[in-house]
Amino acid sequence: MIHTYNFPTRIRFGPGARHELAAELTTLGIQRVLIITDKDVAQLPWFPELETSLASFGAATFSGVWGNPVVSQVNAGVEAWKAHGADGIVAVGGGAPMDVAKAIALMAHHPGHLFDYEDGASTRPIDQPIPPIIALPTTAGTGSEVGRSTVISDDDTHAKKIMFDPQLLPRVVLADPELLLGLPAKITAATGMDALTHLIEAFLAKGFNPLCDGIALEGIYLVAQNLKACVDFAQRLREGASFDEATAAAHRLARGGMLNASMMGAIAFQKGLGVTHSCAHALSTVYDTHHGLANGIMLPAAMRFNLVAAPAQFLRMARVVKPEATDGQEFVEWIVGLSESIGIPTSLGALGVPPDGLDPLVAVAIKDGCHPLNPRPVVEKDFYAIYQDAF
Ligand SMILES: [Zn+2]
Repeated sequence: MIHTYNFPTRIRFGPGARHELAAELTTLGIQRVLIITDKDVAQLPWFPELETSLASFGAATFSGVWGNPVVSQVNAGVEAWKAHGADGIVAVGGGAPMDVAKAIALMAHHPGHLFDYEDGASTRPIDQPIPPIIALPTTAGTGSEVGRSTVISDDDTHAKKIMFDPQLLPRVVLADPELLLGLPAKITAATGMDALTHLIEAFLAKGFNPLCDGIALEGIYLVAQNLKACVDFAQRLREGASFDEATAAAHRLARGGMLNASMMGAIAFQKGLGVTHSCAHALSTVYDTHHGLANGIMLPAAMRFNLVAAPAQFLRMARVVKPEATDGQEFVEWIVGLSESIGIPTSLGALGVPPDGLDPLVAVAIKDGCHPLNPRPVVEKDFYAIYQDAF
């Protein structure tokens, strides 16, 4: 059997990488740019400076993105794209603006409805050019900047659909830790747990991809080294602390560690994901829960479920975070400890999920495309057990 490994993205990583944006646009031959971001990022102090730096590219900004991205946001963005006569996209933000930017790029020259192009269920071909995207991530979580798919929800049903095409992969990622220095503690924690979930589920996913396995283990190490530190720095800033140069440098270093871990998670999960993501996708669909938070709450219960199916792999992960570990159980304990230390709620009750409200969640989770690659097969009664364990 012949396997496929894919690591194609050009990434420029380091403090100040954002200043290379104009040069990268020139290299790509982009003349008129649409910046796509969300409402919150557009308010950040460095954002006007970024806009101004692109004045010679006739830059306009579309910031109509918030929450879990939906089709109407994409449609508004496509209108903005056409009105502006743009020929390239700069996507700035976390997973939501990244995914909306990719969907706008897809629909820039394709007719019909976005969901006509759903991966595996398309009714129209992706056969028109897709404009180039340059991505500047401002969170360390989804790693969507190194992915070639976009996940958008239906406005009414909240059902998530995946659109996939190699041309949706950003041409360049400018990964600048300085763009993450103002990220609040709660978002830092929730997005960081998403990155960690990608790394763990990719490592455990069925299939053969030793390159991804290696990336996943190093990514888990980076999360162990840096996530708690990032949350602590964010908390101290919120409390009004002002950092001396050494502390500011340590903050940049920790943010850079998480930024790499996040991209490594998304690169590794070309191998597959697992049951945590199926549970989390259902929480977002039914309760509109933040994706990273949903993963963070579900991860301990999902891993308690998985441990018996892959004890040797759990021991390898345990030894990454605790070299003297002798049992995979210690990795599950480490997840629980990390999660509590960064303020992730320990129970589904914190999301307002009623204990008798599991039926709609299980109905969505069982249909989700992630759990078939989980190391332990998951049937309906298992989903009930995992959700109950998460209360
Ligand atoms: Zn995820």
